[in-house]
Amino acid sequence: MKRRVPGVDVAAAVRAIYAELAVRPIERGCMARTECCQFKRTGKTPYLTKGEALVAAKAWRAAGRTRLPESADGMCPLLDGATGRCRIYEGRPFGCRTHFCAAAGGPYARREVVDLIHRLEDLDRTLGGEGALPLPAALNRALRERL
Ligand code: SF4
Repeated sequence: MKRRVPGVDVAAAVRAIYAELAVRPIERGCMARTECCQFKRTGKTPYLTKGEALVAAKAWRAAGRTRLPESADGMCPLLDGATGRCRIYEGRPFGCRTHFCAAAGGPYARREVVDLIHRLEDLDRTLGGEGALPLPAALNRALRERL
């Protein structure tokens, strides 16, 4: 089903938030160690609002995939186990951009990004979402819809 909300360009709205985050003067540096993609090892899983999930699902489809693989070892299903790289890096969700991994400098303070979080939550409500969900659940739902 194609998700349409009159007057809302979901992809553009989410990407604008990501673009704003990228130019914030907050020093962090993703070192592509993918430690933050190891949910079982870290005990932390990113939560996605509906807009983030739809954008990530679109990126996943663009990579030629329609379903999430099973991930028995507790790593993110979007991580390429062979290359150690995120398969949707340009479309990765907000939580993956705010680097909760220590190597990248630790998590952003909430006050540094709370306005962007509120915009994602507002968009979630506009889209009829149920609030942020763990990445696998959010992606599986979003893959049943379309931007
Ligand atoms: S979406 Fe990409 S960056 Fe985020 S946890 Fe998964 S593999 Fe890592």
